[in-house]
Amino acid sequence: MNNFTFYNPVKVLFGKGQIAALATEVPANTRVLMAFGGGSIKKNGVYEQVMDALKSHHVIEFGGIEPNPRYETLMKAVDLARREQIDYILAVGGGSVIDGVKFIAAAIPFEGGDPWKICSEKVPVTKAIPFGAVLTLPATGSEMNSGSVITREETKQKLSFGSPLTFPKFSILDPETTFSLPLRQLSNGVVDAFTHVLEQYLTYPVNAPLQDRLAESILITLKEEGPKALQNPTDYDTAANIMWCATMALNGVIRVGVPTDWATHMIGHELTARHRPCAYPGHCATLAAALQARHQAGKAAAVR
Ligand SMILES: [Zn+2]
Repeated sequence: MNNFTFYNPVKVLFGKGQIAALATEVPANTRVLMAFGGGSIKKNGVYEQVMDALKSHHVIEFGGIEPNPRYETLMKAVDLARREQIDYILAVGGGSVIDGVKFIAAAIPFEGGDPWKICSEKVPVTKAIPFGAVLTLPATGSEMNSGSVITREETKQKLSFGSPLTFPKFSILDPETTFSLPLRQLSNGVVDAFTHVLEQYLTYPVNAPLQDRLAESILITLKEEGPKALQNPTDYDTAANIMWCATMALNGVIRVGVPTDWATHMIGHELTARHRPCAYPGHCATLAAALQARHQAGKAAAVR
């Protein structure tokens, strides 16, 4: 097993009714920027639950963070947050909203010019506004890690960054928030999580059987629960199992001490930066092609 350092400070509040905990998880007397995506939270009851829990807080809304969050959109949130002297951010949505909020959190206090340098020049984040998350789409694992991927439309770049300062302070995972997801989004999420596990598992053995078996258990659970969710998207236990699998797939636990790959995601980033398809269905095709290429090259890496 390779040497490793493991650090994950995210407090997870999992289960039905946990959104009400925002009332105490978001510090009192803060000016909160509530960031969300295309507005589905206004149709599925999540918005009401969030606003109800935050009724004693000063909340300013910022909607419209798109899938594959764009620098151009996020900088509008940064301007708003600076004007309104925001000192806490709440991401309500899926991985794109949470990734976007990580960038906003780091960009607000950034003093080195254009905050895009955090992505393009890997300028280290030395300050960030604290933030929490309410997850509504199990897929990316962003709710329990410090990584973020941002797209800049103008330059057709899709780049990642991460910092110990961009872990959410807390993440609320209520499986009921996923009941109204379109089936396509649900299956894309399962494929994304499945691919995350493979990127950390399908490399080469380093005698780390615990990590291998943890990875296998997530793969098996996703394979069992995914089809059930498509059959019955409002089954609480199925939704709960998928949600926790997606979080466990990318919170660092299965990555420690083993080699990781990420070629499928890196190729996917390049393709989506240029063509903007939904990233997740692409993973299947990219992964299959990458494995085939390795196999043809005779690399032992593809053989497990
Ligand atoms: Zn992914």
